[in-house]
Amino acid sequence: MNTTQSPGTPAQTEHVLIVRYGEVALKGMNKPYFERVLMGRIQSAIKKEPEASELRITREDGLIVVQAQAGQRTPLPERLMHRIAKVFGVATISPAIFLPGREMEDIFAACIAFIRDKKAERSAVSGEGTPISFKVFGKRSDKTYPIPSPEMSAKIGEAILAAFAPAVKVDVHNPDVRLNVHLRRKGVFIFDEKVSCFGGLPLGTNGKGMILLSGGIDSPVAAWMMARRGMRIEAVHYHSYPYTSQRAQEKVEELAQILASYCGSFTLHVVNLLPAQERIALHCPEELMTILVRRFMMKIAEKIAGTRGCGMLITGENLGQVASQTAEALITTDAAVSLPVMRPLIAFDKTEIIEKAQEIGTFEKSIEPYEDCCTVFLPKHPATRPKPETVLAAENAIPDVETLIEELIATKEIIRIGLENDEIR
Ligand code: ATP
Ligand code: MG
Repeated sequence: MNTTQSPGTPAQTEHVLIVRYGEVALKGMNKPYFERVLMGRIQSAIKKEPEASELRITREDGLIVVQAQAGQRTPLPERLMHRIAKVFGVATISPAIFLPGREMEDIFAACIAFIRDKKAERSAVSGEGTPISFKVFGKRSDKTYPIPSPEMSAKIGEAILAAFAPAVKVDVHNPDVRLNVHLRRKGVFIFDEKVSCFGGLPLGTNGKGMILLSGGIDSPVAAWMMARRGMRIEAVHYHSYPYTSQRAQEKVEELAQILASYCGSFTLHVVNLLPAQERIALHCPEELMTILVRRFMMKIAEKIAGTRGCGMLITGENLGQVASQTAEALITTDAAVSLPVMRPLIAFDKTEIIEKAQEIGTFEKSIEPYEDCCTVFLPKHPATRPKPETVLAAENAIPDVETLIEELIATKEIIRIGLENDEIR
């Protein structure tokens, strides 16, 4: 790790990352548990980085701090921040300077060095001598410190102006640099940016669910949203080979890999649904094909979930999106299983789902044009308001449903998604 000192930096300061957690902070009696899990998740997120063994992750007074064992004289690499930004439970991150002492003179020197670096950054982009404005946001978490925050902010401002005026100005409305100076028990943090992350709760704090993962836009987002609430996921994908291609399945595996960058490694169960579709087509009215296939998907997913410790099913279904997702169709689909079915996208507009897919990085993969098993045996006029009793009667006319389901599960393929030795527990 680089330990060169940048010119003008007070010797004792070091570069760190401040990691703030949102909802975890509200967890009352369980807070230490959530904090411990979150720290473990941050640790795993950076464990493959070359600096990992030299980094220390500590927690104090509601903050997590990532710092180098031997002190860090240059900013920590951005890729570390990007990794940590994907950890659920993390609300914001700030690259910061840490000053171990609390002497006013040291604080001035550290703030002056901070502004000098910002000024240099600005000059590099906009030309030598470009003026820069700032505003000081002083904060004392330790109220026993004798100087109140407004006074501290004013003194820091004066020291900076004395060092740089007129090239550096105060702008209280729209400053280029928001100079946050947070005085805490063990020292002072100085930073300007707060990078927004995804919030939520650390993985593993909220059970495990089985996502029905298609290659479409919706289901990866649905999985991500449940994982963001702390739920570990496992996935089942249905294909209709040879009507669907090997490439279509690879696309789903690639989508699953993107999910694994948030959710850790997981198992993808791949089931050939074609024999069930053929059996339904042979014995049932065409307009009920879609709803009956969906009930099969649910039943198979429920069986696999039962053997894998998943207490819920998750789908990307959305009210009214297509014929199989009218209120009536969803009720009939639900009735096929006794496990609870989570549909985190139920009330989203498609544009909102697309925005989310873009934000989490699944969209471009999802829109690659490959066929899905749902398009095989697609009825011309699917029933949009199926009566449960009609659907049940049709399903009862299919011979040996249970045996068929067992056979399909017995021949499923199991694919490990994500990194080896990276099981989230
Ligand atoms: P997505 O909803 O993922 O964009 P889609 O719109 O093609 O894909 P729908 O027909 O809307 O899929 O299906 C609704 C839900 O059913 C999906 O969100 C997914 O949870 C599940 N599903 C559909 N097709 C499959 C499949 N081939 N394998 C696993 N689950 C599937
Ligand atoms: Mg959909």
